Amino acid sequence: MLISHTPNPIELITQVATISTGKSAKKGLIYRLADMGHMTPFEHVSFTFKITDITRKTSHQLVRYRHASIVQESMRYVDFSDRQARIPEIGKASQKLKEYAQEIYSATANKDEARNALPIGTLTQMYFTCNLAELIHIAKQRLCMSAEREIRNVVKKMCSEVAQKFPELEPLFQPKCVYIGRCNEPQVKCGIMPYKELNLKQKVYKLLK
Ligand SMILES: Cc1cc2nc3c(=O)[nH]c(=O)nc-3n(C[C@H](O)[C@H](O)[C@H](O)COP(=O)(O)OP(=O)(O)OC[C@H]3O[C@@H](n4cnc5c(N)ncnc54)[C@H](O)[C@@H]3O)c2cc1C
Repeated sequence: MLISHTPNPIELITQVATISTGKSAKKGLIYRLADMGHMTPFEHVSFTFKITDITRKTSHQLVRYRHASIVQESMRYVDFSDRQARIPEIGKASQKLKEYAQEIYSATANKDEARNALPIGTLTQMYFTCNLAELIHIAKQRLCMSAEREIRNVVKKMCSEVAQKFPELEPLFQPKCVYIGRCNEPQVKCGIMPYKELNLKQKVYKLLK
């Protein structure tokens, strides 16, 4: 859930971006900036999300984003015996974690050790703050069908909530193939863009000669 954000993102991006030329902004500036990869104006806009009911698997994928600021609940301090887990045998959030966690907690009073035995499907929550440049980057990676379904849905929800408040930002949230004009994930075959390999060994540019 989007809980906090920069009040006027588009105005701020425009104000920040136009200092470099001293000219007033033309229509569609934010899309041209994103297309050119001039992302620093987007870094001035911040969003804070409270992300709940995600598995530790997905939270681990989210904490890999080094430009985000994250606070996640601790398995050392929080008692997970009243929590749920999303594990394959059951297919959805299950109460079975309760008995399992109680067993672990009674086997060891040490929560440091106990957490080693909790499933990676245990549900967790976190606050996640990032700037708009990072959210666009995350969308490029995680709206792609090569990303796992759970994180794809989480990121889709984050982007949708931002787009609901600021509809002009919606076109910025696209999988990477849309930005680069081709699919570079041979195994995906989702049909959004045709796969095309980039042959970096081809001597197209001779800039270093
Ligand atoms: C489909 C998919 C499969 C994946 N599979 C694996 C896997 O099997 N194993 C695994 O370990 N990870 C895996 N990852 C995670 C991936 O490698 C990244 O760690 C994660 O997606 C975060 O991306 P990032 O580093 O670009 O993001 P951020 O950390 O947010 O960084 C954003 C950008 O900032 C720049 N940047 C940040 N830090 C540095 C730095 N130190 N030096 C230079 N530039 C920097 C880079 O341009 C980077 O793209 C997978 C990701 C995806 C989407």
